[in-house]
Amino acid sequence: MNVSIHNTLTRRKDELIPSEGAFRMYCCGPTVYGPAHIGNFRTFIVQDALRRTLECAGLKVKHVRNITDVDDKTIRESRKLGVSLKEFTKKWEDKFHEDCAKLNMLPPTIEPRATEHIAEQLDMVSKLVGNGHAYVSSDGSVYFKISSCPTYGKLAGLDRDNMATQATNSAGEANNADEYERENVSDFALWKGRKPEDGDNFWRSPWGEGRPGWHIECSAMSRKYLGDSFDLHGGGIDLCFPHHENEIAQSECATGAVPYVKYWFHSAHLMVEGQKMSKSLGNLYTLDDLVAKGYTPAQIRYALLSGHYRQQLNFTFKGLDDAKSALSKMRKAASSALERANISVAEFKKMIKPGAEFSGTIFEGAWNAMCDDFNVPRALGEIFGALPKLSGEKSDISAFGSLLYALGIDVFAGAEDSAEEVPVPDEIMDIARKRWEAKKAKDFASADKLRNEALEKGWIILDKKDGFSVSPKKA
Ligand code: AMP
Ligand code: ZN
Repeated sequence: MNVSIHNTLTRRKDELIPSEGAFRMYCCGPTVYGPAHIGNFRTFIVQDALRRTLECAGLKVKHVRNITDVDDKTIRESRKLGVSLKEFTKKWEDKFHEDCAKLNMLPPTIEPRATEHIAEQLDMVSKLVGNGHAYVSSDGSVYFKISSCPTYGKLAGLDRDNMATQATNSAGEANNADEYERENVSDFALWKGRKPEDGDNFWRSPWGEGRPGWHIECSAMSRKYLGDSFDLHGGGIDLCFPHHENEIAQSECATGAVPYVKYWFHSAHLMVEGQKMSKSLGNLYTLDDLVAKGYTPAQIRYALLSGHYRQQLNFTFKGLDDAKSALSKMRKAASSALERANISVAEFKKMIKPGAEFSGTIFEGAWNAMCDDFNVPRALGEIFGALPKLSGEKSDISAFGSLLYALGIDVFAGAEDSAEEVPVPDEIMDIARKRWEAKKAKDFASADKLRNEALEKGWIILDKKDGFSVSPKKA
């Protein structure tokens, strides 16, 4: 069965069919200037699960996800700290990879960095200058000329007839910003002439020293690794305009290959407890923040994946608690089926892979939901409907293994952690969190006191790499 998604470009549900050989997908990756937040991870996990689902549908997937390691933010923050851009971005790139591994995300097939593809970006900009789709301004910047591209606006559905395509933005300035509003459709920078605030971060170009604009990196790197025209492009909904609209314009005008991308896959944003995430509201959580509150990466992944990708996901602590009990239910059902089939957990872990046949199994409905506009919440509902019927039947067990692969859920992750089996009272969790905060603040005396307090009440707090676990004291 083919997997379908809602294609932002065609505005309908399309079946994902590779145009040749492997299914080629490109996802806009992180800008590495700090730890990624759970909103970023929601988008990356949805893309990871889509890739896994395509593999379960029998496709070979070539997945490219870039690292944005040069832009206004990375340059500004590295200069504030007085370290090189490379040293600064490497630290956050490593942290991103660490978090991805904990969240059970598959590494992309290729993960190119913007700074290592300057030549490819310059090549594309030169082509656009050469064929009249771009022009050079007096400060050595190069701009894409929107009025030269009659199809500009096709992805975001801009009203071409009533849209003033202009060289400058509404304030009458050249548009040097990476991001801008729909109302401000204006020529955008492909190459930015060197400015004092760029410090040492510049490259030579036919138009003088400078650095690439943000949008061009994805056009140049996707072209290098996936070709002029490829299958699917993904990102959070905020990237649809202007970033993806600009990518289409640059790529199609530079190469002449239309369409640049066949399927556009956008995921809706994550909200926290009904509000937009922001530093000032104190709700901009990283993976470490949630682990320090006693949740496991598997529970966090489950909570981030459990909503439909086209609906805003309201992330709540109740949702995390629900994820915890859902995972525990899945594990219990799997354990008893494995026992009946005489299969060990280690053997079952090997069965968590693509390739199972779903039709005729109790998980056929769940798989159909995954294929139908990648409907994860419906699939989870189907899974819980089927679990009571899960016996020692081998074909059902292996279908379950493949579904777990598609979702990227390892039900036996941390199974040895008894905290997941026995509910920890709120009072004890409070003590454990306070102790963790004290420990982080290097107030070891208070940390010890709190640990003893929990122990007296019958609970053991243990440190893990990035957080803690709580388990009942054995009698
Ligand atoms: P960035 O590192 O800002 O370039 O973003 C990386 C990815 O995260 C992009 O695909 C964004 O669209 C996505 N993203 C940013 N904020 C959120 C959010 N609140 N919810 C879901 N995705 C987001
Ligand atoms: Zn991009």
